[in-house]
Amino acid sequence: MQLFSLSGNNGNKFGGAPGPRMRNRRRYRVAVPELPEVETVRRQLAPILTGRQIVDAGAHGSAKFASATDAVGSGIVGIDRRGKYLLTELDDRRQLIVHLGMTGVLRPRPDGPVDPYVRAWWALDDGITIELKDVRRFGRIAVVPSGDHRSLATLHHLGPEPLGPGFPAEGLRLAVNRSSAVVKSQLLGQRVVAGVGNIYADEALWMAKVNPAARSITKPRAVALHAAVRHVLAAALDNGGTTLRDYRDVTGDEGRNQFHLSCYGRAGLPCLRCGTPLRRRVIDARGTTWCPTCQRR
Ligand SMILES: [Zn+2]
Repeated sequence: MQLFSLSGNNGNKFGGAPGPRMRNRRRYRVAVPELPEVETVRRQLAPILTGRQIVDAGAHGSAKFASATDAVGSGIVGIDRRGKYLLTELDDRRQLIVHLGMTGVLRPRPDGPVDPYVRAWWALDDGITIELKDVRRFGRIAVVPSGDHRSLATLHHLGPEPLGPGFPAEGLRLAVNRSSAVVKSQLLGQRVVAGVGNIYADEALWMAKVNPAARSITKPRAVALHAAVRHVLAAALDNGGTTLRDYRDVTGDEGRNQFHLSCYGRAGLPCLRCGTPLRRRVIDARGTTWCPTCQRR
């Protein structure tokens, strides 16, 4: 199995004061960690975990987290990511898989009393304990034979990595047009492309001028959408991810990409391209914002 890992650092080049778009922040209810957020976590965890041994572990609450203890005794070879999944490669040909769900945060255990929202923890042989805090409990932990993801259906059927070489524009066009589902649903579905959630789907569709309810796309639109998906994810990664409420990186910092959103969460505000008020509708139970002028069907 080939895993895709991004190289490069996670610089602070877009730090700075909140811009005017921040006033919309309170409209969002939740924002699930998507590819840029999970990749940011992976990059920060890699130097902490790699080469260490897991000497103890614990899990609380839902059975979704109970597998955390299966990794005790294993060494950590490295940590990869596929879509929104973190895949920690163990030295016994197994993988410790973590999905952050909606509110999951992985971090070294801070000083002070134990947080009641910690669902699992792993003690490393250098004295550091990594814990998963997950208020809403939509996260998931699994330990599986390396590459055997049949018990995790979404991961098992995951589409290509958008920032990797296996995601051609023509493949995107064929995949979207093969199904009768609307394009927004397909981006969210993880089979056409991995790692895109509600924020970056809205951003990419706006950038590419594709209507979220379109059921097929032309070649030029597919090329534009392909480029937009890659652009919005790469830019968000450069910004350390988007924090609307819960997401924090491993160091406890918020991302900065929320200051750079063009479409998501801006319903009622003027389109930054044409000035038309952006509209909002629900697609697949997810709030969807789009420009009725730029993204005409
Ligand atoms: Zn517009």
